[in-house]
Amino acid sequence: MAFPVTRLRRLRRTDQLRNLVRETRLTPEAFVYPMFVCPGEGVRKEVRSMPGVFNLSVDEAVKEAQEVHSLGIPSVILFGLPDRKDEVATGAWADDGIVQQAARAMKRGVPDLILMGDVCLCEYMSHGHCGIVKAASTPKSLGAAARDAMNTARVVAVRNREEKKKAIEALATVVTRAAQVEFEIDNDASLELLARTSVSLTRAGIDIIAPSDMMDGRVAAIRAALDEANFINTPILSYAAKFASGFYGPFREAADSAPQFGDRRSYQMDGANLREAMREIELDIEEGADMIMVKPAMPYLDVIAAARDRFDLPLAAYQVSGEYAMIEAAARNGWIEHDRVMMEALLSIRRAGASIILTYHAKAAARLLA
Ligand SMILES: [Zn+2]
Repeated sequence: MAFPVTRLRRLRRTDQLRNLVRETRLTPEAFVYPMFVCPGEGVRKEVRSMPGVFNLSVDEAVKEAQEVHSLGIPSVILFGLPDRKDEVATGAWADDGIVQQAARAMKRGVPDLILMGDVCLCEYMSHGHCGIVKAASTPKSLGAAARDAMNTARVVAVRNREEKKKAIEALATVVTRAAQVEFEIDNDASLELLARTSVSLTRAGIDIIAPSDMMDGRVAAIRAALDEANFINTPILSYAAKFASGFYGPFREAADSAPQFGDRRSYQMDGANLREAMREIELDIEEGADMIMVKPAMPYLDVIAAARDRFDLPLAAYQVSGEYAMIEAAARNGWIEHDRVMMEALLSIRRAGASIILTYHAKAAARLLA
């Protein structure tokens, strides 16, 4: 039946009618609030590129967790800023690691809050990568590098200072390139550390283990280690389809986890690949994931929708730091209406099919929904 019998505007006439026929609803129960825990006492340091988000010492984190809980948000996910970093991510799996300390204190202070533990190594590695780094090629001796450079460099007649400077610079570049070591992230060696981290976090009181490293086989390795340690009831929420994304920028400041060299494209997913995302998710489910996640959220709503369509596990989406920062920045400039855009963004993620939303907007959104 078409117009004029059918008029879709009939059900849009009033607030009450619109509310009655609304297909998607947001509730604070869907939110998980990410928190960054740092050493010290009384520390509450705002992240420059994420206004309203703080690095918190354990005591402040407990206070924040109480506030989160009082707003009806059921869960937080913890990230740590260790006081020291090394080549084996000791801070990730040590008994007195910063997240372990926070988990113990939060379990005492806010026992009903579900604690998720992000499992990754980048925040604890001196090089900032999510796994163990090994050399993929042996460095050449400086002499060999220089010989190669001489062979590669073009012989040019130098007529003035400017040209001489240029020639020297070109030669230096060739020598550096020849002497450089290529690195790779050692997948299988990293699994042991991820498993060890998961057991340590669970022992400290973390309720849900959430691996975000994107190493192949990590879910199975973590499941086996948890079961071995008798934590058979600890669920795994796997960051199953995590894309290499420019939207993570502000997080790297918040968690001080930017890679010191290279990037994460050899382990995080290519943003162009939807079918591969389905394979990633499928494999994580086979390995024993209890819940799955797509990250980031808004640039990958189609991936969320496809995952919802195809898999029956609880589905989470991570609205990442860059998504948050864009909304905050534009609103601060008076270019968009903060609350309206925030809720519209969250609603889009929910509508795409995510039932759990990890978001820095959790507190502000929960206040609006109250
Ligand atoms: Zn990482």
